[in-house]
Amino acid sequence: MSLVVVGSIAFDAVKTPFGERERMLGGSAVHFSLAASYFTDVRVVGPVGDDFGEGEYAVLRGHGVNTDDIEHVEGGKTFFWAGEYEWNVNIRHTLDTQLNVFGEFQPKLSEGAKQADVLFLANIQPDLQRAVREQSSAKIAGLDSMNYWIESARESLLRTIGTVDLILMNDDEVRQLTEEPTLLRAARKIMELGPRVIVVKQGEYGASLFTEDGFFSLPSYPLEKVVDPTGAGDSFAGGFFGYLDAQGGATDDATLRRAMTYGSAVASYWVEEFGCEGADRLSRDEIEERFEAFRSMTAVEGVTAG
Ligand code: AMP
Repeated sequence: MSLVVVGSIAFDAVKTPFGERERMLGGSAVHFSLAASYFTDVRVVGPVGDDFGEGEYAVLRGHGVNTDDIEHVEGGKTFFWAGEYEWNVNIRHTLDTQLNVFGEFQPKLSEGAKQADVLFLANIQPDLQRAVREQSSAKIAGLDSMNYWIESARESLLRTIGTVDLILMNDDEVRQLTEEPTLLRAARKIMELGPRVIVVKQGEYGASLFTEDGFFSLPSYPLEKVVDPTGAGDSFAGGFFGYLDAQGGATDDATLRRAMTYGSAVASYWVEEFGCEGADRLSRDEIEERFEAFRSMTAVEGVTAG
């Protein structure tokens, strides 16, 4: 039972209608690994610069995340992203992306990372994702990406997709990548490239699962307050893959449905705070509470009033 993630390790500047942070710990691999740490042992792979200090390592290690595969680049600067959300927080604008240490990064997995059972290629340049996939002997590999890479590295992304079993991507990105108008057709087109399982994230509206012979859909957890959606997708993926790894990497439809529910439960806590600040207080028991809430929220039969 072990899970490895490669992706961005970042500082983020985020503005939402409910507040802002000028510089906070972020990055797809950070959100993912903190979320996955509630379910399994997780290692994070990626480069950081001199500005990534003990305080940042402490957040990861405090959750039991193995940071041995984080590469410190002397004289470098950590990846930086700035974004702003509209009143409808489903709409986000990227204001700045500075690759910094990712520009020169050549991933080299440690023996421990190579042998992990499950691998997640979180959002980062698709050549780097593939370089990690080629070194890993994982039984199950998944991938996320975003519009930035679909536009700037499309061919590489398509090749990388061909090397994994599961895809988790946003609905707009799946449409943009496949140039198909419906999610079903888009999912089938991605399956033709290789992956057997497609999870389409739909922001506030939840997520849908497409497999060879199955379909499942889950709303997002209804919340009174959403403070910052940054990391929602990555924490969803962390809960999802963390649970799959804890189940020995099973990918039958029933396990995938439960993984979707755990991913949604974790993401619902993430968006109630800025960045990954929600992880400071979150407990596994609270995740289980929302898992049970999903069970009753989505039942069609056998519900009593009240
Ligand atoms: P999400 O789960 O989609 O909200 O992902 C948010 C995280 O993605 C932020 O913490 C950013 O640091 C990171 N991010 C933004 N743009 C990129 C990019 N082009 N490549 C990799 N990571 C990114």
